[in-house]
Amino acid sequence: MSLQPAERRDFIRDMISDDLASGKHQAPVTRFPPEPNGYLHIGHAKSICLNFGIAQEFPGARCHLRFDDTNPSKEDQEYVDSIQEDIRWLGFDWGDNLFFASNMFDFFYECAVALINKGLAYVDEQTVEEIRAQRGNVNVPGQESPYRNRSVEENLARFQAMKNGEIPEGKAILRAKIDMASSNMNMRDPVLYRIMFAEHHNTGGTWCIYPMYDFAHPIQDALEGITHSLCSLEYEEHRPLYDWVVNNVSIPYHKPRQIEFARLNIDHTVMSKRKLRQLVEQNYVSGWDDPRMPTLCGLRRRGYTSHSIRDFCERIGVAKSANTVEYALLEHCLREDLNDTAERTMAVLRPVKLVITNYPEGQTETFEVENNPVHPEQGTHTVTFSREVWIEADDFLPEPIPKYKRLYPNGPECRLKGAYLITCTGCKQAADGSIEEIYATYDPDSRGGDPADGRKVKGATIHWVDCQTAVDAEVRLYENLFSDAQPDGPDKNFLDCLNPDSLTVLTGCKVESALVEEAKKYDAEGEGRTAKTAPGFQFMRVGYFCMDSRDCRADHLVFNRSVLLKDSFKPGK
Ligand code: ATP
Ligand code: MG
Repeated sequence: MSLQPAERRDFIRDMISDDLASGKHQAPVTRFPPEPNGYLHIGHAKSICLNFGIAQEFPGARCHLRFDDTNPSKEDQEYVDSIQEDIRWLGFDWGDNLFFASNMFDFFYECAVALINKGLAYVDEQTVEEIRAQRGNVNVPGQESPYRNRSVEENLARFQAMKNGEIPEGKAILRAKIDMASSNMNMRDPVLYRIMFAEHHNTGGTWCIYPMYDFAHPIQDALEGITHSLCSLEYEEHRPLYDWVVNNVSIPYHKPRQIEFARLNIDHTVMSKRKLRQLVEQNYVSGWDDPRMPTLCGLRRRGYTSHSIRDFCERIGVAKSANTVEYALLEHCLREDLNDTAERTMAVLRPVKLVITNYPEGQTETFEVENNPVHPEQGTHTVTFSREVWIEADDFLPEPIPKYKRLYPNGPECRLKGAYLITCTGCKQAADGSIEEIYATYDPDSRGGDPADGRKVKGATIHWVDCQTAVDAEVRLYENLFSDAQPDGPDKNFLDCLNPDSLTVLTGCKVESALVEEAKKYDAEGEGRTAKTAPGFQFMRVGYFCMDSRDCRADHLVFNRSVLLKDSFKPGK
């Protein structure tokens, strides 16, 4: 599956190749460092495919999975577990290289003490407001804190007091002593440690001071022997601080290099865990795995394959400039994959009965339907046919509109997919105008769907399901979760941009009875069954669908629409 470095080119792989050529490194070591405070989303997939992809491509390379769990308040074991599951599902593995930043709390603390001893860090006991007022701005240099020139001894004692829980939250922080006049705001004596009396999912109540990301991350990178620390563009301004930490904290490893790339943004969705959590907690969606969510578990439940997501990440590539990718490209990748792999079946979502008046009552016959025309070797499956079949309501009109090629009274000859040619003769309408039944006659000499005399069939090909054997199903149709293309845009509340019609539930849909057998096999996986193995299908003429991992049962079929058949993605647009 993976392409070799020579075939895959981007500025990061070029930098790595240069570092290997110059002998700086033998092999790249990358890491994927999620904070376990939510489920992974498609943006994370970009970073996973990049970091783990590099590890697969370069000989001797490896990629670490590191939980960046230095902030106790929002982190949870549930997220730790789901993140591992999602990475494996995408097809990547970290081997023995699983790390938790929280296992290094002792070491971070020692590093902080070492900085204090070098006169490079101090405990500031001003109020938050006072500190903020001294920061200055890009045009105005900051002012030095009155605590900046405390003695090393005093700093060590106060830092110890912070650690011992003797100082209340918000009353003291440890700051690096760098440059309050720096043009880079991140270098104006940034915070290294803060006090938080919070239970940590790994270390419990052991600690009441926690290191900041900008302090812990470079140390952890250096400790693990990371060579290329890939992060998103927002951290470009933090790179001088990253380098400052690496250079001033003595770690007996080579120095990691931070490289920034553009985050993935996709239209019609939001990509921040904070916002996704809000959607879940405020019940705008049914959970992190709601099929409308851009989370990996949501996409999976929707019917996305890991192959389609990796393909998407390859196509968008890696660059320095931020941009927004069309959701349609993601759908395009899924459609391509499913066109190749999905078994074809017939399903009628909005059924109305068609009676073939010249077909003998009580007669039944069978037809073979190709499982996948792209792969004839995948064979056929049997469908039954009789005098009454279900067809889609919109494949009939009592009065035709211009260019309508489907069924209407005395309209063109149409083909019942794989079965017979029929001609509509009329319908029965209720008092309110709704269609109760449609009538047609069939040509007995057109078995299989082609006329014996070779005449041209002017009407459309229509899918159908035999009324005698059809099974009822619930089908869930999804649209964009947000009607606004940029729900994250400035001056917008993303919750105001939600699409009220993002979910349509259809009941009483008619599907082939063979799907019950598929559902039985899926049920047999028992309580632990997941979306990973949910059977997926192409409902001919309708779209791609998969069984819903939570709700589909053999005695109550539930399908999620994964993607439409039609492609709205225009390459190069
Ligand atoms: P969020 O704002 O969604 O919480 P995050 O960056 O805070 O995102 P982390 O768990 O810290 O989430 O991210 C782990 C890794 O995934 C980081 O290296 C980060 O750069 C990367 N990442 C997160 N979102 C994206 C994205 N949209 N595109 C590319 N990489 C991303
Ligand atoms: Mg984060």
